[in-house]
Amino acid sequence: MGLPSRPVAGSRRGGVLILGGTAEARALAAELVPSGMRVVSSLAGRVTRPRLPVGEVREGGFGGPDGLARWIAAEGVERLVDATHPFAERMSASAAEAAALAGVPLLVLRRPGWHEGPDDRWRRVPSLRAAAEELDREFPGGRVFLTTGRRSLPVFAGLTSMWFLARSVDPPEPPVPANTHVVLDRGPYTVEGERALIGGHRLDVLVTKDSGGAMTSAKLVAARETGLPVIMVDRPPPPAGVRLVESAGEAAAWVQAG
Ligand code: NAP
Repeated sequence: MGLPSRPVAGSRRGGVLILGGTAEARALAAELVPSGMRVVSSLAGRVTRPRLPVGEVREGGFGGPDGLARWIAAEGVERLVDATHPFAERMSASAAEAAALAGVPLLVLRRPGWHEGPDDRWRRVPSLRAAAEELDREFPGGRVFLTTGRRSLPVFAGLTSMWFLARSVDPPEPPVPANTHVVLDRGPYTVEGERALIGGHRLDVLVTKDSGGAMTSAKLVAARETGLPVIMVDRPPPPAGVRLVESAGEAAAWVQAG
């Protein structure tokens, strides 16, 4: 079933389109809606029960950059904010291309990544595939805390000697590694809760993406406190030449200045 569109789509034109699916996108909508400006948030429609922003909401892909450019033109959208997750690489590329096609200004809102502290034991890797190779090399037979998202499990499916605690919002898509225990949960998480998972399941290593933000950072604190090694997947770079900010407040100022 589709998400409700509030108010009925088509009753207003213009305003800002926020490509969302993140806490920052919801915070931006919440900052802009009180001004009376038309604010449309777009969600991919992948999560069963998404957290909804205030303002109008639409759901589902646009059909690539051409489709997004057509949607922008049809709705008279004046500004585009790409506030998708730092790992939503295809949508960000599509937004940059569509903004150029439609001739609307684009801003990328991307929260900062995480940084390693002196007591952390991180290894940075460039991709999920590289994370799987690192596990295979350094942790054979190990017990792995995997928090890279439900659609990433096929990358680890060949690691049959390991045991995985895989946490995701919705059930993972097959194929999954042979020895996988799934925990369905969504942030924010607490350090106490993460410590209990690490100790309770006798985990040897955490694999995570450098998503950044406070909602899911408790696992890194717990890993530091318990001496757990972390394999950290680097984020893809943003599209070349885009204007970039790191907070909803900065993005709201940019939208309102237009
Ligand atoms: P992706 O691989 O970059 O995007 C794949 C396709 O999904 C896009 O080409 C687009 O389809 C559609 N899409 C993605 N985001 C959309 C949006 N906000 N509104 C409308 N269509 C969207 O994206 P992903 O990594 O699957 O992420 C999907 C959504 O989940 C994003 O909105 C992202 O903010 C959120 N999210 C992602 C992660 C993550 O780790 N990747 C984590 C938390 C939340 P068309 O080409 O047909 O337009």
